Amino acid sequence: MERTFIMVKPDGVQRGLVGEIISRFEKRGFKLVGLKLMQISRELAETHYGEHKGKPFFEGLVNFITSGPVVAMVWEGKEVIATAREMMGATNPLKAQPGTIRGTYGIDVGRNVIHGSDSPESAQREIALFFKEEELLSYDKTLDTWIY
Ligand code: ADP
Ligand code: MG
Repeated sequence: MERTFIMVKPDGVQRGLVGEIISRFEKRGFKLVGLKLMQISRELAETHYGEHKGKPFFEGLVNFITSGPVVAMVWEGKEVIATAREMMGATNPLKAQPGTIRGTYGIDVGRNVIHGSDSPESAQREIALFFKEEELLSYDKTLDTWIY
């Protein structure tokens, strides 16, 4: 089963959107397998966003992502990587489709609420950057035999 790395950025945490974002992924049927509130170090931020090093927005991006707590998550499910990107909407919230997470809550390209891996390779790399193997749990949602 596919896994992806999703992060509520500092603006999303500040604005109280953590529950709303988790809820969207739960309702879409995906499974939460890793979750933590954390403050990202400069080193981790620069590694995570390594592909953007040298771009004009890189410094501002690193400053912003390290400016406050983020919620790092791993979600599991069929085609979760591409589906999460669709649920997020375009990078620039002003271009994101209405109803997407960024298209509903985003204000500015530098404050676009959420990060999600863009490919299987990125997902594998980002999950390993943010989570230890033992922090990711495999479990079966259908084992709730007390529900009748
Ligand atoms: P995405 O987050 O949709 O994968 P990118 O990987 O292209 O987008 O960029 C990473 C992050 O860098 C974006 O989410 C956004 O916060 C920031 N960013 C991208 N382009 C710009 C820009 N032109 N100006 C300011 N910030 C930007
Ligand atoms: Mg990206």
